[in-house]
Amino acid sequence: MNPRRGKVWLVGAGPGDPGLLTLKGARAIQSCDALVYDYLVSQAIVDLASPDCERIYVGKKAGAHTLTQTEITVLIVKLALDGKRVVRLKGGDVFVFARGGEEAQALYAAGVPFEIVPGITSAIAAPAYAGIPVTHRDHNTSFSISTGHEDPLKGYTSLDYAKLANPKSTTIFLMAMGNLTGIVTELRENGLPDTTPVAIVREGTKPTQETLVATLATIVDEVERTQFAAPAIVVIGNVVNERETIRWFDRAPLFGKRVLVTRPPAQAGEFAQQLWEAGAEPLLAPTIAIGPPDDAAAARAAVARVREYAWVVFTSRNAVDAFFDHLGAAGKDARAFGDAKVAAIGPKTAAALSTHGIRVDFMPDAFVNEAVAGGLAERTVAGDRVLLFRAQEARDVLPATLRAAGRTVDIVAAYKTRYVDDANLRETAERADIVTFTSSSAVHGFVHNVADAAAILARATVAAIGPVTAATARGHGIRVDVVAEDFTVEGLIAALEAGVTA
Ligand code: SAH
Repeated sequence: MNPRRGKVWLVGAGPGDPGLLTLKGARAIQSCDALVYDYLVSQAIVDLASPDCERIYVGKKAGAHTLTQTEITVLIVKLALDGKRVVRLKGGDVFVFARGGEEAQALYAAGVPFEIVPGITSAIAAPAYAGIPVTHRDHNTSFSISTGHEDPLKGYTSLDYAKLANPKSTTIFLMAMGNLTGIVTELRENGLPDTTPVAIVREGTKPTQETLVATLATIVDEVERTQFAAPAIVVIGNVVNERETIRWFDRAPLFGKRVLVTRPPAQAGEFAQQLWEAGAEPLLAPTIAIGPPDDAAAARAAVARVREYAWVVFTSRNAVDAFFDHLGAAGKDARAFGDAKVAAIGPKTAAALSTHGIRVDFMPDAFVNEAVAGGLAERTVAGDRVLLFRAQEARDVLPATLRAAGRTVDIVAAYKTRYVDDANLRETAERADIVTFTSSSAVHGFVHNVADAAAILARATVAAIGPVTAATARGHGIRVDVVAEDFTVEGLIAALEAGVTA
């Protein structure tokens, strides 16, 4: 007998933007043993699952079924009976044209406990991201959501078109692209005026979102002319006119831009998230990876004697992570600092320290080594010992300045950055509208893979997190278009938003 009872969570992933997943859905995904997911579920959401979670793609795309519905149902029942915590993840909401009801019934029949975690349906969210409210007091008091899967021209629709042809209601269709002609014909024959506005929103809530607006009389021709394709939501009714003023998502400066992120995976997540929120599509292509330094024993030894220093300086979050890894491995915690004061180069490094209970004693206004050196020179006296815990390949300006001022500086390599070999990087970079560099080493890692970087990047907007990184890029002949004023990823995004609009 399996001691642990399995359970299934039927979770709605939302319409596409990973930020539209519910907190409850995220918790279920993070703690499940098996994730059974569909076509139309964002990779960023699948990536929330833990590395040892079994991921099973059962994507159903019209005409290309990986597993039949029965096979999917059998699969989730079996996984649960094996004692697994299973998340069955579906696009949008689980009970809106998603066969969640059938799966729940099968679980009930098999005696498997389950929970339903509703999701935001594309039927409402895709119009919302196109600036179309499904209800508006000036226009309607009801809306309907129908499947356009049945072709009325073939004579087997169960939809009541006489009711749907109501100018005072908003009519929404899912899965309607294949039968649009039949649907429009029925609505016109049932008296819906030809002038009724129609919007079709494809890939709603994603950076690839597109919206086509026409009227009942012209929409079929427009779809033909523009080759507008599924997956899409069709919205019919006067509320569509509100898009003119409410349109917002596809007006954002970075909307639809493909942004290459070259930083290491551990730090790319937060940046990617913020890019999504700005309407951009992150392309993750780390050019560097963080690993142990050549001499890990020196780092360990420095951590062991940290309390002997007047100041300990961290110039990146990676250094903080490495420090506390060593400290933790030695069975110690933040008390090891004793009276030593702590400096951080910028807010991200300070935030990393604060998760370990360390409040920094100094952080400069400008997040560069020169500013750290100046600030520390003021706060120390000749003979004070300073520990620099930092990248193996870091610049010398900080220790040089402090030593010139008579401080004793121990430089310890906390970690080493190595270049990632990526045979696809050139191709990925060519697809990008914007290429970002958040450190000099990321630039070196890029050039390591793409020797003719300057030529490859000539077409894209190149953005650097600060002047030092920008200078490194320029040193390789790369034209830099945007340099952040605030040397953080938020600053970089703000500079891009300003630069791209200008
Ligand atoms: N349960 C889902 C619907 C599944 S049916 C939900 O609640 O959203 C699949 C259909 O949903 C597609 O054919 C398309 O009509 C619609 N759809 C799903 N995601 C979409 C998106 N991001 N943009 C536009 N339409 C979408």
